[in-house]
Formats: sequence, C-alpha cells, structure tokens
Amino acid sequence: MLPLTSRPRALTTVDALLTEGLAHPDRVAELRQVTSEFRLRISPLMREAMGNLATGPLARQFVPTPAELDVRPEERTDPIGDLTHKVAPGLTHRYPDRVILAVTQSCDVYCRFCFRRETVGGDGALSDADLDAACAYIAAHPAIWEVVLTGGDPLSLSARRIGAIMDRLSRIPHLGIIRFHTRVPVVFPERITPALIRALKVRPAVYMVIHTNHAQELTGVSCAALARLAQAGIPLLSQTVLLKGINDDPDTLEDLFRTLLRNRVKPYYLHHSDLARGTGHFRTSISAGQAIMKVLRGRLSGTALPTYVLDIPGGFGKVPIGPAYLTPDAGGWRVTDPQGHSHLYRDPV
Ligand code: SF4
Repeated sequence: MLPLTSRPRALTTVDALLTEGLAHPDRVAELRQVTSEFRLRISPLMREAMGNLATGPLARQFVPTPAELDVRPEERTDPIGDLTHKVAPGLTHRYPDRVILAVTQSCDVYCRFCFRRETVGGDGALSDADLDAACAYIAAHPAIWEVVLTGGDPLSLSARRIGAIMDRLSRIPHLGIIRFHTRVPVVFPERITPALIRALKVRPAVYMVIHTNHAQELTGVSCAALARLAQAGIPLLSQTVLLKGINDDPDTLEDLFRTLLRNRVKPYYLHHSDLARGTGHFRTSISAGQAIMKVLRGRLSGTALPTYVLDIPGGFGKVPIGPAYLTPDAGGWRVTDPQGHSHLYRDPV
C-alpha cells in the first residue's frame, strides 16, 4: 500500500470534478453554489472505486449535485438536536450514561447526505483547552461510562493526537467504553497503521462503529484495514444510512450486510435518513424502510441484521422503527412470522 504522502490527492473543488468527468459543465454555477455551503472532499480511494460511474452508488454519495439546493420546509440545520444538549465545546450530553465528543470537524470524504453537514469541514480539531474542559465535565459526572468520539471523523486525526486523547480519557476511572464513529477504515484505510492501533490499546474498551452504505465501498484495501482492527481485538460494528437510489432495496442491503459480517463487522444500525438541509432527494419513507427490513428478516440471520432506527428530530433520541411482528389479540398476541403468516401466542398463566 502507498504511504499517505504518495497517494493521489483528494478531490475538493468543482474544477477537479470537471477535470475528472464527474460534473457536467452546464451545472458548474449551481455546483459552486452547493459547495460554497457544503464542503466537498472525495478521498483518492473512493474516487478510484467509483470508476467512471458518475451516477453509481459511490458517486451519488460523494459528488455534489444541484438537487442539494432544494431545501424543504421540514429540513433543519441541526436535525438531531446536537446543540440542544451541548454542554461544552465539542461535548453533547443527551443520554445519562454517555456523551458525544466531537474531536475534529474534518473528514476524508464529505457525504452529501451528512446530518452534520452544517458543521463538518469547519474549524479543525478540538483544542487542548477544550479537550481538558470536556474531560473535566466527564470526570465530574460518574454516571457517564461511555464516550462516543465523532466529528467530523475522529480517525482523520493523526495517530499521535488520537493517542493523546486516549491517554486523557483513560485517566477517568469510571469510563468503561470509548466508541469511535468513523468512515476512515473504508474511505482512507491507510490511516489504520500500527501506530494508530497501538494508540487504541487503552484501558476502557475501544469499539469501532464503521459507517458504510454500499458493498462497493468495501474495497480490498478497506477490508484489509478492517482485518487489522479485528486482529487487534477491537470489536467492529457498522452503521448504514438508508439512501434512496443507493441502497434502498433488499438485494443491495443484503449484499452489504453479508460483506460486513464476512469482514467481522456486525451490522448495528440502519438509520432512517435525517432531515438535514438539501438532502430530500436521498430520503425514503419509513414504510419503504420497514418493507425492506421485513424482506431482510426472512433472508438473513440475526447476526447480519441491523436495527432500523430514527433519530427523532429535535434531539429526543434514537428509537427502533422496524416493522412490528406483534399485536395484542384476544387476551394474547398475534405474531407474524418472516413469511407473513400470522400465529396466536398466549403468555403462560
Ligand atoms: S464521514 Fe461522517 S461526519 Fe463526515 S461527512 Fe460523512 S457522514 Fe458526515
């Protein structure tokens, strides 16, 4: 694998898209308007993996389109209410036992549907002073046993900086879990170096939740990076966003979830797309998502099935929204099996 400095550069401008044949010359003005508001970056690996498929599942996730200028009335600048629960710079405390710590606003790709698209790409990494303030808050709240590192993408930081953050968090005795939410092993796997893995060997258990939406993202080098993490003993989970025209059909998701499981990544969440501004063209209905989950339940083992969830707009938390298999009936329960047949079940008295 090429070292970080020898790889081709990321695509970050509309001009670069034009040169690569990923933008139509007639749409340049609109694309400049989109990218003046929502940052553009496509990692070299994702550029390579999308090939010439300017409308394929990878291009649709990373290449801006004029559709992003269509902002709908229900869409919000802070779709899941991060700001409502912000307690210090970079720190969100929504649930009693865990906090979200945004350690950087930078990512190696900027996904066109990102629910934090208003903030990613902003002012770089959390300062030492802000990290100290966040750690002081966590230390003062013994009920917090898990820190979710997010951003931006926390693994876009250097191994040295991640080591410093791990060291700081490890000194908080009541912390049991440090969880990374990241796209790096998929989109920029060169960052999964021995130095990074050494930095992750700390006392709180480190979990990695990998964001990936289509099996085409899981290139050979990405799978090798996942293997390095798995071999280091880091439990791997995935999160996927349900995206219209990209993965909103059972065959595509089945392929993704089987590929993940083969690579020792347990499918964890399938997110209903959030109400971020300019992302309506990616959104399916909840009933469409439930229908997909119903089909998948009939095809896949529980190990391959994520939970279909909605982050309730406004910061009210995440809830499962998968299809219902159980309804009350005649003092018992009417249960639907994966083939759609109905059965009566009574609790033993
Ligand atoms: S990598 Fe994650 S945080 Fe960054 S743009 Fe994509 S979805 Fe948003």
